[in-house]
Amino acid sequence: MKKIIKNGTIVTATDTYKADIEINDGVITQIGSGFYSQDAEVVDADGCYVFPGGIDPHTHLDMPFGGTMTKDDYETGTRAAAFGGTTTIIDFCLTSKGVPLKDAVETWHNKAKDKAVIDYGFHLQIVEMTENVLKELPVISKEEGITSFKVFMAYKNQFQADDETLFKTLIAAKELGALVMVHAENGDVIDYLVKKALEEGNTEPIFHALTRPPEAEGEATGRAATLTGLADSQLYVVHVSCEDAAKKIAEARSKGIDIWGETCPQYLVLDQSYLEKPNFEGAKYVWSPPLREKWNQESLWNALKSGQLQTIGSDQCSFDFNGQKDLGKDDFSKIPNGGPLIEDRVSILYSEGVEKGRINLNQFVDLVSTKAAKLFGLYPKKGTIAVGADADIVLFNPKVERVLSAKNHHMAVDYNPFEGMKIKGEPVTVLSRGDYVIKDKEFVAEPGRGQYIKRANYNEALVKKEDAVPSK
Ligand SMILES: [Zn+2]
Repeated sequence: MKKIIKNGTIVTATDTYKADIEINDGVITQIGSGFYSQDAEVVDADGCYVFPGGIDPHTHLDMPFGGTMTKDDYETGTRAAAFGGTTTIIDFCLTSKGVPLKDAVETWHNKAKDKAVIDYGFHLQIVEMTENVLKELPVISKEEGITSFKVFMAYKNQFQADDETLFKTLIAAKELGALVMVHAENGDVIDYLVKKALEEGNTEPIFHALTRPPEAEGEATGRAATLTGLADSQLYVVHVSCEDAAKKIAEARSKGIDIWGETCPQYLVLDQSYLEKPNFEGAKYVWSPPLREKWNQESLWNALKSGQLQTIGSDQCSFDFNGQKDLGKDDFSKIPNGGPLIEDRVSILYSEGVEKGRINLNQFVDLVSTKAAKLFGLYPKKGTIAVGADADIVLFNPKVERVLSAKNHHMAVDYNPFEGMKIKGEPVTVLSRGDYVIKDKEFVAEPGRGQYIKRANYNEALVKKEDAVPSK
């Protein structure tokens, strides 16, 4: 059945205007006014912004980590994402040394199918660059439409890859038209600092932050950027947490290196002092990279506003406080890293960014949706409101005031890192390919309706053409 969204204010990465949207067969077929169809359902968006559905380029659903599994799987995770106004995620498919890439991808397909309620794609982790991997990578990239490869420079003896692997991945990605993603922290230095802290009897959560200093992130970011320039390749730095790293990205960009940066809501809102909460509560705030001293937040906001950082990921990686985070009760290095953010990513950026005058509405849409669509080969099917695009649409009421809490969130975890935080604005209705997923704040979709997306190659020209977003 056709739908017509009436009376809303459409906001894209470039424009804000009043118009109606006609949807047919899951696709936007007209934008304008005065069109009417007897067989169409009218959706009233009066008082709402009409945004393209959020695109979360960074999630870890149903993922093994530190002897446990992330709490949210594809069903609870994508449902919570939809409640929060996100209609597409790109999740990280982990791989293991010596195991064919296709087996890893198959494992991830099995996690998602029959469960996902919104559309999804995969990034592929690269742990080694053997003859087998080099042979298999072009096949996987083409057949599966996986056009981004993730390399960890940290988590020694677990995920960490060496510089040779990173460099070879950069070269392979250039040839295949893929974007390399890095977790940029110096894993060797961190490993030494962690061991030393534990030897000295320092076991509390705060030592997680103190053993992963901003210099370790800045150094790795600069190294990855330099190697990218040397390989004449392209790089996307995930979860930039501090000024050190943001500056390294800006510096490389000024030299013409093709490099992009993502930050996450926790680094914009929370800070290192949360790790000092009593009764082990600091464990709720253990991310890698860690939360930083508060002064870094202004640098990150400025980098978002000026276009030196381009996207907001959730780094959704949820563990219960009771039963999972407490694995590290006597040893901070055993606390599973990560937190639940897939649901509140869009709303926090709206409230803290737009409402507080740090970024404008169009920058907000670019950061939570459009730029990720362009970087990761989803645009213009996803990431904008235009004729021919998928009808992935969020009706967002900017006036509602509410309080974030584990009591009313939809993620499967027993805490919310933003507990008690007052925010303004709320997604009310969320459409994915024209279907209601959330209707008037109620979940109305079936698990398994989400589709796997084969993504197009990285296209530098597409991202750079509209790189400059109007400033406020
Ligand atoms: Zn991550």
